[in-house]
Amino acid sequence: MISSPRPFSFAYALFSLLLACAVLLPAQLFAQQEDSLSLTYLGAAGWKIMDGSVVVLIDPYISRVKYGGGGHPDDDRPDYARDEIAPSDTALIDTLVDKADFILVHHGHFDHLGDVPYIARKTGAKVIGTETTIMILRAYGIPDEQLYAVGGGEDYQFDSFSIRVLPSIHSALNEKHYFDTRRYDRFTELNAPLRIEQFIEGGSLMFLARFATHEVLTMGSMNFVERELEGIHPDILLAGVNGSRLGLFDYDARLIRVTGNPPIVIPTHWDNFRLPYGYSQEGGVERNLVPFVDTLAEIAPETRVILPVHLEPIVLHRP
Ligand SMILES: [Zn+2]
Repeated sequence: MISSPRPFSFAYALFSLLLACAVLLPAQLFAQQEDSLSLTYLGAAGWKIMDGSVVVLIDPYISRVKYGGGGHPDDDRPDYARDEIAPSDTALIDTLVDKADFILVHHGHFDHLGDVPYIARKTGAKVIGTETTIMILRAYGIPDEQLYAVGGGEDYQFDSFSIRVLPSIHSALNEKHYFDTRRYDRFTELNAPLRIEQFIEGGSLMFLARFATHEVLTMGSMNFVERELEGIHPDILLAGVNGSRLGLFDYDARLIRVTGNPPIVIPTHWDNFRLPYGYSQEGGVERNLVPFVDTLAEIAPETRVILPVHLEPIVLHRP
């Protein structure tokens, strides 16, 4: 059954209402202004973030392919196996993305990188990611001029935008048994299109994206290297909030503390990305978001937690 895109629970409804009062109404009344930042949740770890001068996509995964089980019985799209090629939903992407200046990719898994070949070609955006990510994009014919391979530690200035790359680690999936040291490099033979399983992690990154009005710290996983975040105090933290974080020591408190109690925290990578937009995400809200909101109310009462809804812009003004 297809239900409302906005899952209903009391906590969620309350936060959505506060969000609407605080930030959504101005977004609908005014076009993008120079002194504001707009963040639109694309699902999985994906975001479109823009101010008046730059459009940045983070892990823009829009196709929400049904693969490897975990789909919805009412979703009659094909269910792909991991050893199959799953094409991007280019018609859907075209309705959501027309322009992009940068694409930041946390790691190479399909739910982060799967749509980037199409989006990079379509927009001509500069892509920043690991060597593995860049080699995959090369295999798809994206020109080298668009590609920036980074290892973590870089701090790059572009026109009206700068980006610090932070070494990170992947979610501790499979009850902490997840481990994958594979990497692609210039000697790897890759023939596009790739199978889902060929989108390997290839190492993980975080980004500190400095816009004109706000600094945004991004996460693509439910994990981080604490010492790499020391001294990083963003205005907005896109916090990885999914089940595997519960297997880590004191995740929520360590993350919030080391990032200097960010004034705004927005959960990311908490939804079921095998479901199309418009399907209920109430399971993820109840399982991931509600406990996270409760924890933050205790450990960081000054922090404002904004719960994102797929494809609804969150507009924030200069702090
Ligand atoms: Zn991953």
